[in-house]
Amino acid sequence: MSERTRLLNFIGGEFVPPKSASYLPVYEPATGEVFAEVVASNRADVDAACEAAERAWPAWRNTPTEKRAAILNAIADKLESELERFAQAESKDTGKPLSLARSVDIPRAVSNFRFFASAIQHFASECHPTSADVLNYTLRAPLGVVGCLSPWNLPLYLFTWKIAPALAAGNCVVGKPSELTPATATMFAELCSGAGLPPGVLNVIHGTGSDAGEAICTHPTIKAISFTGGTKTGARIARVAAPLFKKLSLEMGGKNPVLVFDDADFDSMLGTTLRSAFSNQGEICLCGSRIFVQDGIYDRFKSEFVARAKKLVVGDPLEPTTDQGALISQQHHEKVRGYLNLARKEGGKLLCGGEVVSPPRRCSKGWFLSPAVIEGLAPDCRTSQEEIFGPVVTIYRFKTEEEAVRLANGTPYGLASVVWTRSLDRAHRVSANLQAGIVWVNCWMVRDLRTPFGGVKQSGVGREGGWEALRFFTEPKNVCLKLS
Ligand code: NAD
Repeated sequence: MSERTRLLNFIGGEFVPPKSASYLPVYEPATGEVFAEVVASNRADVDAACEAAERAWPAWRNTPTEKRAAILNAIADKLESELERFAQAESKDTGKPLSLARSVDIPRAVSNFRFFASAIQHFASECHPTSADVLNYTLRAPLGVVGCLSPWNLPLYLFTWKIAPALAAGNCVVGKPSELTPATATMFAELCSGAGLPPGVLNVIHGTGSDAGEAICTHPTIKAISFTGGTKTGARIARVAAPLFKKLSLEMGGKNPVLVFDDADFDSMLGTTLRSAFSNQGEICLCGSRIFVQDGIYDRFKSEFVARAKKLVVGDPLEPTTDQGALISQQHHEKVRGYLNLARKEGGKLLCGGEVVSPPRRCSKGWFLSPAVIEGLAPDCRTSQEEIFGPVVTIYRFKTEEEAVRLANGTPYGLASVVWTRSLDRAHRVSANLQAGIVWVNCWMVRDLRTPFGGVKQSGVGREGGWEALRFFTEPKNVCLKLS
């Protein structure tokens, strides 16, 4: 045990052990083995992080915008120069293919910092000239110390998506990555320090949601909470934080629909729909897990989609030929397999996949599952309604546009949706009628960091991205000035 890597909290610019001396094991999903241990923080550790952040805040708040932006850019440059080391760590911690961590996770973390370094220099507030002698103008001040809580599926990508705008706007951060994937956030905190971020401006606390997470969400110093994770957790955070009047941004789960109309560009649709179903083992909140296909092309779609899903290579995340790595944990592996059993009981037919895969050599005990396609389920059964968050999609046939929209909107979630059609009229009509925060037409996961990002219904409250994020991390104050 003592030879394992120990991932410590990063408070006030240095690594510190936990007050409780407790640690949690960190598993490599591809091997099923423990490779590190991470601090299990409690309230006392969060107190220390909040104190460090509070001490650092006056100087950080008063640092000129241009200087803050320069530090954020230096962080981005340093991360880019260490892309390979971070990609290796991310793949090991999550089980995702190394190729994906190299091409998506870490480059996006770099972009998050570059984007907000630039955005803060263009961020402006409003002025309302009321009459010849009265002027109203809005000051937008940073909030103070904010809490940023992120999940395990895109660890550094989502952690930086929160802390970059928070820091750019002049806040100090107490951040908590998922206890399942603590590695890259720990490395990143050290990297930020090396790039010139003053001590205490970014503090990383590790531990479980119920201990460390909740201590952050209820801490009197924390002015706002930016959370990404499951809907149940979001509801819990809202319950404990709302009475304390903290600002909340909650990005939560999804059960995203993909609507494929007869007139879709079939080849482009097929390749992208395969990606939207199974990228990152289906462990992306934006994955399209319910696929509705119009009558005229349903049979062709079914046979070609299943044939392509069967060809996806499930295996060692380090192999360049691997399409699908391991699921995040044994518990999650069991949860996803539980849904496959439930689907069978609910009358679903497994067209392919859903088998436990045991790749040779070092990965033989990892948590792998082949991509599953299910048909024949009622749209209102549990498998069709609940978020599975794994390599499982359900497919359905529809006849009319009205039916497709009704089915797509028929869950408590409303994060993302995808529409495949060549008709411009239909694209606009359907997009307007879908209950979702994001609609992709004839594409998926095409991202512009200026656009509002988030969900409706049980998928979220608030928006991230662009001005939305900078507005969230600042408090507007109106000044009304009457000239004498
Ligand atoms: P989770 O809700 O279990 O955990 C997310 C984070 O919150 C972790 O850091 C966790 O430790 C912490 N946490 C857990 N309980 C807490 C509590 N009571 N108080 C404070 N913090 C607590 O989610 P997960 O399993 O890590 O991630 C998967 C979920 O995240 C899926 O539902 C997925 O859809 C969602 N997700 C959403 C988005 C989005 O942008 N909407 C993006 C990625 C993932």
